[in-house]
Amino acid sequence: MATARILSTGDELVRGRSLDTNTSEIARALSGEGVSCEGAEVVADDLPALVDAIRRACATADFVVLSGGLGPTEDDCTRAAAAAAAGVAIERVPELAAALEERFARRGIPMPPSNLLQADRPAGAETLPNRHGTAPGFAMAIGRGRFLALPGPPNEMRGVLAEEALPRIRAFLAAAGGPRRVVRTRSLETWGEREAAVGEKIADLMRRGRMPRVGTTAARGTIRILVHAEGDPADVDALLASDEAEIRRRLGPAVFGADGETIEDVAARALLASGRTLAVAESCTGGMIGALLTGTPGISASFLGGVIAYANEAKVRDLGVDAALLARVGAVSEEVARAMASGVRARTGADIGIGITGVAGPGGGSEEKPVGSVHLALDDRGAVTHRRLALPGDRALVREIAAKSALDLLRRSLGR
Ligand code: AMP
Ligand code: MG
Repeated sequence: MATARILSTGDELVRGRSLDTNTSEIARALSGEGVSCEGAEVVADDLPALVDAIRRACATADFVVLSGGLGPTEDDCTRAAAAAAAGVAIERVPELAAALEERFARRGIPMPPSNLLQADRPAGAETLPNRHGTAPGFAMAIGRGRFLALPGPPNEMRGVLAEEALPRIRAFLAAAGGPRRVVRTRSLETWGEREAAVGEKIADLMRRGRMPRVGTTAARGTIRILVHAEGDPADVDALLASDEAEIRRRLGPAVFGADGETIEDVAARALLASGRTLAVAESCTGGMIGALLTGTPGISASFLGGVIAYANEAKVRDLGVDAALLARVGAVSEEVARAMASGVRARTGADIGIGITGVAGPGGGSEEKPVGSVHLALDDRGAVTHRRLALPGDRALVREIAAKSALDLLRRSLGR
């Protein structure tokens, strides 16, 4: 199997001032091409250190992919480091200089002279055009490896990786012949079951040593099941498909999506597809349900709006919740959640109303209603569903999981 090493350069990355996200994206993309990543290194903006890192990486790996250090400033030394590692000169490429000048002219701003550094390239290197910014990447042979330099800003890195670097890597692998191996991961996103419960239902699939490899991760309420297979392209796809079908069969409606889909996007799309309208009455989530739903373009066709009814008076005044009821059962109660859902539906004329009220903490909890107690109600044209949640975590997590639980209830009720 072809191997790769990944390098990233930047003082801010080495000092922990910003997170190296490029490495994991590049590793994932290379894995998808059947290239095995044997290691990664973060290097400061320092010419000798970078030369050394490039030489070491290129001595052992088939592909070395570096991101960063292609900017126009003094601290950007990837071009010089690659040239030194390969023992070649730096040359200015007239076409690149012209393209830079044209790019600035189009935007009607004068080009800082230092930008011309981005028209430099190690002699013999091939340019990897960058349609997303001013710094083109380049590719060249260094030692026994193919060295590919990509811009540092994540959106530019992503674009140049997909459009320029991966096609070249694929062509290399094809030219090298041999059986093509691929590494593929399918993720299934679930909501509503705890990780241990998910794990019990698919324990046999998660047995170590089995192929595909199945694992779970939990992040902020979403339990993700990762199915990972390596081998011949035809086999890999069949293996993933069969495990996916089995997992969906066992977990049923807990599976809401795949490959990084979010509960908010899935719920918004389900709502749009239903053709029904929705309004929300939010207390403890303070508008988060609305904010999550409106992240999906086109949602105005279904989402009418809502009320942030945080204080009791707002629940009475804006939603018509009975003040005597509030006094009797308290704001965090099934009855009030139901009244909020029905109240917002009545006032907006929506098909569906959602009401949510809870104790987000850290204060305000009691024996009877501890922090994390949330009541959620959904009124679908008069048929009301209620859920009581007991959520773990700090204030931020309770609010987020409460809002997403409402979207989960919405998606499930639309699916019925
Ligand atoms: P550079 O061209 O290397 O100076 O990178 C420009 C910007 O891209 C940096 O200021 C970072 O914000 C970002 N960047 C560079 N490398 C990485 C990386 N490995 N992961 C995430 N962001 C990065
Ligand atoms: Mg930098």
